[in-house]
Amino acid sequence: MRVPSNPLILIGPTILLLFAATFVWIWMIDRRRKHLLYYGGGALLFCIGAMSQIFAIPEGAGPNAVVSAFIYVSSVLVLCDGLLRRSGRGLHWAEYVASIILIVGGIAYFFYIDRQLITRIYLLNFGIGVICLASTLRLRGLRYGKAAERVLFWVLLAFSIHFFLRTTLTVGLVAPSATSFASSPFWLALQYSVAVLGVALALAIVQVTVSDTLDELRRERALDPLTGLLNRRGFEEFATVRLQAPHAWPISLMVVDIDHFKKVNDTHGHLAGDAVLKTFGQLMLATARQVDVCGRLGGEEFLILMPNCDLEGARIVAERLRTSVGTAVFDGLPKEWRVTASVGIAEIRRGEALLELIARADEALYEAKRSGRDRVNAYRQAIAGV
Ligand code: GH3
Ligand code: MG
Ligand code: MG
Repeated sequence: MRVPSNPLILIGPTILLLFAATFVWIWMIDRRRKHLLYYGGGALLFCIGAMSQIFAIPEGAGPNAVVSAFIYVSSVLVLCDGLLRRSGRGLHWAEYVASIILIVGGIAYFFYIDRQLITRIYLLNFGIGVICLASTLRLRGLRYGKAAERVLFWVLLAFSIHFFLRTTLTVGLVAPSATSFASSPFWLALQYSVAVLGVALALAIVQVTVSDTLDELRRERALDPLTGLLNRRGFEEFATVRLQAPHAWPISLMVVDIDHFKKVNDTHGHLAGDAVLKTFGQLMLATARQVDVCGRLGGEEFLILMPNCDLEGARIVAERLRTSVGTAVFDGLPKEWRVTASVGIAEIRRGEALLELIARADEALYEAKRSGRDRVNAYRQAIAGV
């Protein structure tokens, strides 16, 4: 083991350790986001790789070159795996094995069999560069994502490319021993580029993580935990955006209420009631189109806002929903138990606010209930009936 003469050299590994701890800490708060563990693992491995070089563990140039290269390559693979996993992908184990065999095996070869320092440096840096660049290309969709993702993409690209540039500029073109060049700002900048770009990359990953967390909180605030549909707040938020969208006209809304739902609770218990609500939510999502906004207003009352859909279109969708509910078998209820629903529909009027539209559809729903339930009623008819 070698004790470093300048303790400042430990700043880099310490920062990496802090990043690793931060990612693991955020993962502990929300364990669904496993990719955070990969970020933490990647940072921790890089820290260990740096320590192995700083303290010369294991001793001897050959073993140290091979072991530290193994740790560095693993670190980059784990980090890229984490970034890919965040986007629903990930590295295959074969990609891990192939990269490690090619790079670390190559370094061992060029130390023990054909001793070539320059080739080893190229192999390690270009190898890591290729892993990063390949992952960046697979993540090119981030260019069109939210601001934090766009920043991450460009920093990752710069980080990847710098392995090729730095190596060529420092090792390939100039003799590293040239003393005047070695103290020039250009040379120093190149020397510190890994640290600078590494910290930039870590910060870019932190800001994407923070942005993801905020999005998740916003989503949870807008969702009904039982059915996964939008809750009242979320529905109002999303529906208002749809109402203001150009070319959304005509817009219709349906309010759906399960008939005699109290009886389900009273006969089969609250849990069976919850299961019915959950299945009901799924039936609604299956009936609605992608552009429709589905929500649970509370209790057993649901809403669907349908852009580019007039009253007649809404009636067709509502009848389809009513039929699928009437024929569905619900968990926790006897097979012969039929659940029915009443639906009120209304088409938006010029200048009408969302709440007024909901009130009119609700009025139509009330009529549907009054006239016998298990039916669809449009607001127009409600008025005509008065
Ligand atoms: P109607 O046909 O007139 O709509 O009769 P209903 O029984 O469906 O309507 P009512 O409004 O009288 O009762 C609704 C019931 O829904 C009462 C309440 O206990 C139950 N409920 C509300 N929220 C939940 C929930 O989250 N889970 C369960 N299981 N029941 C709920
Ligand atoms: Mg009801
Ligand atoms: Mg009700």
